[in-house]
Amino acid sequence: MLVSGAGVAGLTCAYWLHEAGHTPVVVERAAAGPLGGYGIDLSGSGYDVAGRMGILDRLAARQLRVDSVALVDGADRITARLDRPLAEKMLRGPYLGLMHSTLEEVLAGAVEDRVEIRHRQRIAALRQNDDDVLVTFADGTRQRFDVVVGADGVHSDTRELVFGPEPRWARQLGFSMACYPVPDVAGRTDVRAHFTEPGRQTVLYPTDTVGTSVALFLYRSQRHGRIPRAERVARLRAAYQGAGWYTPELLAQAPDEPFMDDLTQIELPRWHRGRVVLIGDACGALTLGSAQGASVAMAGGYLLATALAAHPGAHTDAFAAYEARVRPFVAERQRRARSFTRGLVPATRAGRGIQRVFTRLVLRDAAVPLLRFGFGDVSSILPGPSHHSKERQR
Ligand SMILES: Cc1cc2nc3c(=O)[nH]c(=O)nc-3n(C[C@H](O)[C@H](O)[C@H](O)COP(=O)(O)OP(=O)(O)OC[C@H]3O[C@@H](n4cnc5c(N)ncnc54)[C@H](O)[C@@H]3O)c2cc1C
Repeated sequence: MLVSGAGVAGLTCAYWLHEAGHTPVVVERAAAGPLGGYGIDLSGSGYDVAGRMGILDRLAARQLRVDSVALVDGADRITARLDRPLAEKMLRGPYLGLMHSTLEEVLAGAVEDRVEIRHRQRIAALRQNDDDVLVTFADGTRQRFDVVVGADGVHSDTRELVFGPEPRWARQLGFSMACYPVPDVAGRTDVRAHFTEPGRQTVLYPTDTVGTSVALFLYRSQRHGRIPRAERVARLRAAYQGAGWYTPELLAQAPDEPFMDDLTQIELPRWHRGRVVLIGDACGALTLGSAQGASVAMAGGYLLATALAAHPGAHTDAFAAYEARVRPFVAERQRRARSFTRGLVPATRAGRGIQRVFTRLVLRDAAVPLLRFGFGDVSSILPGPSHHSKERQR
């Protein structure tokens, strides 16, 4: 079996395929080694799959230095705060704040010496027949596989090869984001701080490494498509002209080519064709507005591998079982992510005023059911006992 993409979904899937007795090969476009990136909250099904893989201790040891999430005003005063105990109630269980790259690194450690990962390699062409898939790689080599798993992210090349160009399946949310590492800012080393102005937000939080924080920018934008690397900093500065708080000083530290992308959800009528199947962002990107993409990517990788184990020699049945389990959840989370993102970055001054009042009212125990509607209960896509089902019994 071939897995394209050594990200969260691909590595999780490869781990569980190996556990089931397969010999998966993973190809990854990027070179091996540490990446920069952004922070994620791992909760629900992702947390539970990590538990089943025995990697929770390794992840817990490398959490972000973030105790709470705060909304701040232009004078850096905290106007609302979400502390960890309330966040855990809202998510119906424990969560880990991690660098995305740390999660990938720990997952890569879990498959090390078990799964072959070919870095700086990608699929150039695929030809399927009834018996197998003939894959031509970018270096010209060819190999046959019984199944190909596309786990190559929101801009998946595997999807493009099998289902056609991305614009057909992409729903643009009307936002762009950028992020990059910056030195810690004094007084802001244990909080994820969000500063909102009409149509744009600046976020600052410490990473798992003392001395390094992440500056993240989320803004409304109607320009879609790949953003040329050379244009990224100019576009970001144009979007944040006249911005307050620490924004000017964070923008002054932008690297030449920051990570920058549109918020794009992927909506495909089917997640598999023939012997090729998609997992993670490749088939169901949720965007950062759900804070669950990595969790769903891990659940998808796990559930695909277990479905293949449950349907030996019947890949079509396995793909269908996997999709039936995950798709309804993804569709619902995509819908909620769209409305959450609009509320997170209101377009107008009046909208921002409402957000301030609403946030103060909602960030308290009494509003937990409402908060859960947006974020909680993710583990329901996993069969069997979970931290979350235990949580509910209390
Ligand atoms: C700023 C930000 C904040 C987020 N916050 C959260 C959060 O709080 N909680 C959460 O759960 N999720 C969060 N997410 C979403 C989460 O990161 C993604 O949903 C998740 O990483 C998807 O995993 P994936 O494995 O499908 O894709 P990716 O993580 O994108 O991995 C894809 C892999 O495929 C490789 N690849 C790409 N093309 C090819 C190719 N042609 N051939 C071979 N390899 C290829 C890439 O190099 C990469 O290694 C956030 C995302 C962003 C951008």
